[in-house]
Amino acid sequence: MFDLPAQRAHLSEKYDLAPSPELAASMSEIYSRMSRVVSPMDWAIYAPYIKAINDLKAERNAVILGHNYMTPEIYHGISDFGGDSLQLAIKATEVEADVIVQCGVHFMAETSKILSPEKTVLMPDMEAGCSLAESITAEGIEEMRRRYPGAPVVSYVNTTAEVKAASDICCTSSNAAQIVAAMDSDTVIMTPDQYLAQNVARDVPQKNVVWWEGSCIVHEQYRPQDLRDFREWNPGTRLIAHPECPPEVVAEADFSGSTSGIIKYVTDEKPEKALLITECSMASNIADALPEVDFVGPCNMCPYMKKITLEKVLFALDTMTGQIEVNTEVAAKARLSVQRMIDLSRQLGI
Ligand code: SF4
Repeated sequence: MFDLPAQRAHLSEKYDLAPSPELAASMSEIYSRMSRVVSPMDWAIYAPYIKAINDLKAERNAVILGHNYMTPEIYHGISDFGGDSLQLAIKATEVEADVIVQCGVHFMAETSKILSPEKTVLMPDMEAGCSLAESITAEGIEEMRRRYPGAPVVSYVNTTAEVKAASDICCTSSNAAQIVAAMDSDTVIMTPDQYLAQNVARDVPQKNVVWWEGSCIVHEQYRPQDLRDFREWNPGTRLIAHPECPPEVVAEADFSGSTSGIIKYVTDEKPEKALLITECSMASNIADALPEVDFVGPCNMCPYMKKITLEKVLFALDTMTGQIEVNTEVAAKARLSVQRMIDLSRQLGI
């Protein structure tokens, strides 16, 4: 269990973490990447943590991988690389570092460890889970195999190492349709996200896609009527939905794509106003790079992603706690599923 008072006491003995306008001013280059969404008062609070973390990174030969759903002070302040879960896992294999700090959720840190077993992978808060990853176990995969004999299992990367190990191949929201289309079987099992599977089923009608009934607690909250109401209230707004949203929601949107697909779409199209139907920090993290786009609300927050804070990252790096371990045999099988996805994606030119 997380002991915040003890962590704070430990950090305050070693670091001067008091808000500092002077330090904040000296770090204006970093602040310029988030000044549209982070106030100067908040920046003065974050700056001492960011300085301490960045100094410690150099000392430990560490890199920080920041998911698109991290808050801006983490995404822009301390992350060496930002992106979606697959981009970060691939980056984990490429970086020449001894330590990786995963600013995201637990399954992402596990994926980094699976692909880079020789590196120390730190998770700043072990309780940063994921409703999708928690919805299925390796037994659930076996149950689907019994229900649909001979059908290949395509599992989303938002799964535990055990589930990846029990699957035939992984997918992400950016390559799911192409991976499913490439399977050598009429019936394809998709786990654990029922909505991603239903969106893929619509895009790949030549396959009989069957699914596990998991869902993301952030994206399942949207309703088609929310989008219709929003269009009426704020005409001209481009509505952009993540494919973890129910298909009826995606059908109401102007575009649907993975987090990296959303970034590309908004960067290319530069709509005057955009509503990102996904996790709140997505819009915050791209707002400064796209000053011509007005990102309008509402959005839903992922309580798991928001468990990661500057304070917890500093503590993990300072004490080297929160190390991810994956059973060697499970890791080897899980690596095969992830590697098959990477190889097939390259083969398909995705
Ligand atoms: S946003 Fe959804 S899929 Fe992503 S970590 Fe949170 S619960 Fe899991």
